[in-house]
Amino acid sequence: MLEAPNSQSKPLKSTLNLPQTAFPMKANLPVNEPLRLAQWKKSDLYGQIRRARAGAPRYILHDGPPYANGAIHLGHALNKGLKDFIVKSKTMAGFDAPYVPGCDCHGLPIEIKVEEQLGRKRLELPATAIMEACRAYAQKFVDLQISQFVRLGVFGRWDKPYKTMTRDYEARTLEAFYGFLEKGFVYRGLKPVYWCIHDRTTLAEAEVEYEQHTSPSIYVRYRLTSDPSTILGAPSMTASPSWVGEVSQNPVYTIIWTTTPWTLPASLAVAFHPEMEYVALATSDTTYIVAASLAAQVIAACNLTGAHEVARFPGTALDRATFAHPFLDRTVLGVNATYVTADQGTGAVHTAPAHGVDDFATGQRYGLPEVQYVDDAGRQIGTERFGGGQPQPYEGLTVFKSNPVIVELLKERGALLAISHLEHSYPHCWRCHNPVITRATEQWFIGMDTPVKRADGSGTTLRQLAIDEIDKVVWDPAWGKVRITNMIATRPDWCISRQKIWDVPIAVFLCRQCSRPIVSAELNRAVVALIEREGIEAWRTPAADALLPAGAVCAHCGGTAFRKETDILDVWIDAGVSWFAVCEADPDLKSAYTAFQNREDVPVLYLEGADQYRGWFHSSLLTSVALRGHAPYSRVVTNGWTLDEQGRALSKSLGNFIDPVAIMDQLGGDIVRLWVASVDFREDVVASLPLLKRLAEEIYRKLRNTFRFLLGALSETDPSTGLAHDFDPRPMADGGDGIAFDAMQPIDQYILARTADLTGKIRKAYEDFEFHRVYHLLNEFCNSELSAFYLDVLKDRLYTYPIKFKQGHAEQERLYLARRSAQTAIYKITDALARLTAPILSFTADEVYQSLPHTPDHQASVHLTLFPKPEDLAVTEAAFLVDFWHDHVIPMRERVLEVLEELRKYKQIGKSLEAQVHIFAPKEIIDLFIGRLGADTFAELLNVSQVTFQADDTNMVRVVPSQAVGTKCDRCWRHVPDVGQREKYPTVCLRCAEALDAIDFPPYAATNS
Ligand SMILES: [Zn+2]
Ligand SMILES: [Zn+2]
Ligand SMILES: [Zn+2]
Repeated sequence: MLEAPNSQSKPLKSTLNLPQTAFPMKANLPVNEPLRLAQWKKSDLYGQIRRARAGAPRYILHDGPPYANGAIHLGHALNKGLKDFIVKSKTMAGFDAPYVPGCDCHGLPIEIKVEEQLGRKRLELPATAIMEACRAYAQKFVDLQISQFVRLGVFGRWDKPYKTMTRDYEARTLEAFYGFLEKGFVYRGLKPVYWCIHDRTTLAEAEVEYEQHTSPSIYVRYRLTSDPSTILGAPSMTASPSWVGEVSQNPVYTIIWTTTPWTLPASLAVAFHPEMEYVALATSDTTYIVAASLAAQVIAACNLTGAHEVARFPGTALDRATFAHPFLDRTVLGVNATYVTADQGTGAVHTAPAHGVDDFATGQRYGLPEVQYVDDAGRQIGTERFGGGQPQPYEGLTVFKSNPVIVELLKERGALLAISHLEHSYPHCWRCHNPVITRATEQWFIGMDTPVKRADGSGTTLRQLAIDEIDKVVWDPAWGKVRITNMIATRPDWCISRQKIWDVPIAVFLCRQCSRPIVSAELNRAVVALIEREGIEAWRTPAADALLPAGAVCAHCGGTAFRKETDILDVWIDAGVSWFAVCEADPDLKSAYTAFQNREDVPVLYLEGADQYRGWFHSSLLTSVALRGHAPYSRVVTNGWTLDEQGRALSKSLGNFIDPVAIMDQLGGDIVRLWVASVDFREDVVASLPLLKRLAEEIYRKLRNTFRFLLGALSETDPSTGLAHDFDPRPMADGGDGIAFDAMQPIDQYILARTADLTGKIRKAYEDFEFHRVYHLLNEFCNSELSAFYLDVLKDRLYTYPIKFKQGHAEQERLYLARRSAQTAIYKITDALARLTAPILSFTADEVYQSLPHTPDHQASVHLTLFPKPEDLAVTEAAFLVDFWHDHVIPMRERVLEVLEELRKYKQIGKSLEAQVHIFAPKEIIDLFIGRLGADTFAELLNVSQVTFQADDTNMVRVVPSQAVGTKCDRCWRHVPDVGQREKYPTVCLRCAEALDAIDFPPYAATNS
């Protein structure tokens, strides 16, 4: 064995073509990504991409505007990351996919913040000054958020996003409102709405969140004042003989149950279900009427000792009975209503038309007055109008504070039968998190059941048309369709007015006499023009008053005096008309969007968090159906919430908050992007600092090292000249180094076939928005196919085969071409992987792409390229190759590796190059192997020094390893018989001798032998 040190060993080693690349192992993303961003900006990369796709099929992802009142959080990063994956992958699939980002700038949250900052000063300021402060506040966060999304590597028209507060947008929002008004969708009416007494404004369904709240739970009795015998006279009444007698002596009550004692002053009726059975329960001195099915429960809750049923009758018997209010000098009417349930309570429902949607409807049916004793701030007011001008003890208290006072009053009057406390899910304001109330106020509404015409001229309602349109949209995940359908089917009319300042005004003139608006298209256009010139502030200035035509007369009552409405629009109108204000109007979108509206094949995608079924998806659908008769999108996708590993929301107070900006500063934007790709976004997703660190230190690092190895194989230095050479991927016929597919080595053909297969799968996964599948496919390919297999077996060929050959030296040329074959495969794989990863690892993929040897058609950035096509990678036989290797070669290789591992374990061999392998198999298999792959391939594939084949008649493949025969080559370390056969290079094998000769390596003498 020739193990003695050799004087030539160092120079021999210098003839190996070890990987060399400037692509660093350490990514240093926090420093390098901002440099790349600056480069992209300087070269106007987004503009270049847009110009490159001009005329291509169009794809619109319409951005839902995030609210501009804070820095971005991880949920934003998830959503914007997903959008960027889609826009980039569509662009690389050949679509013209513009991305116009949006910013939501109006509304309560900003106004509240600004009011807080202004403090008492705001009371002296005109509305226009507050609006100016809101504008500045919103702009500050628009700028901040944009800088953070840009840092994340999201491509888009960041220099000109759409903002709901630009004059254009404000004018378009108002124009949309006038559209609803002129088409008859809008009415003004008294309605119970969610009301925040803290913010003193109405809240939309979407602005209400359910949180736990403790309420008093009380049973109150109402004394029957009408004649009990009318109940007795009910047709299907059953009564024991004693009923009449007992009733004539004892007072009769019904019992109501409520958790809102503060609504009792407005109690005008008690509702009974017309088809439910009610019973009269007699105690020694009193008779109570409650639902039969709830009687046992009520007896227990109210401790009605000795109560027993004396009569049974239907709820219809109680219709128009009368009761005395428990503490006010007022009559309460018995009414029938079908929403009364037997789930809980007593079956007798206290009804305050001002404080409940059902109650309101019942009040209207029975002609009850809509009394309202609660003001904007939630205070009980005007209570002296009962009880002889004396204010009630709860006068002036806010509703929640009035609860105990009213309970005390009930006790005093003997009306309280039981009290306990109930912790239940209760609506809260999404901004201030205080409990909200329901309160009847004068508001503006879009009527959900407004009649509309379908495209075919048949009649329907806004609600039904919206439901019809939902059916034409692809909802992803599919349950979204059910969710939004139910919401549209059951929602009340859309309350679109707010009593605040910072939003587009409901810019109408109201008749002072009848409060109805002037509806004039001409006047409306004039107001829109004013807003377009001067912004929404102008509505609060005399410039707006001047637009009222001289001598205007109310069309309804003939009134001649008018006032300007000061209510503003619901902020969901702003965002909800973005299809109208942006898609239909923006120069980058309008032609494609109009084509979509004309039913041409232009996809329009909305992608937001799942809370937007009640928010933006919802408001956009209704506005588009109202104004255009169809849905504003063709596909709606939702992402889940971002939670920690215990399933809790990420929050600063829990200490599990993850700031995506800090992660980008510490680990890199590509790490945040890789995380977005790694999760199944349709479900709730998990994020934690350790998880992100693991992504950076394990997954990302492995991918990066694979790229580094690949790139390293594409550059070489000729030791004889010292000249560096980069692999030139052009075909040899054109002066390059590239080998045609059919002339490539079998292993290289196989890996390209695998890459082609991967390309097809990844492109499909992008198309299906299955980014976590892209992530897994990529990782698996880099780990199993490249690192553990291909790049491992390739080392010998890449490092030891000659990098050039002398004319006429056929063996040198053969070896040279085999090496070029590997490099051709590596170039194609690297190029394909850079393109396929570009939508996700946007920074790193560009770095890889730019590190690739450049050809004349090489783009300046990977983001200007298209995705590879499978057929470009493996020209012929791709499917056959994959199957053949999968069925025959890979299993055989695995078996050999196992056996060698065994031998190593028992120290029978050291390195696998010390082994040779004998393959025994049926003749046809051997013929197939040698025919398809050639004998040489096997040694490379198995990473052993020699492989022999022998046909036998068993029906299986057997592998028998043994110690390799021959001597260890000093250069390639294979143990082969031909070491030393070439005199001038006595310590190397013939193959290495060819490589040395090719570069005119000086002959040397063997020493020590
Ligand atoms: Zn509030
Ligand atoms: Zn009028
Ligand atoms: Zn050798």
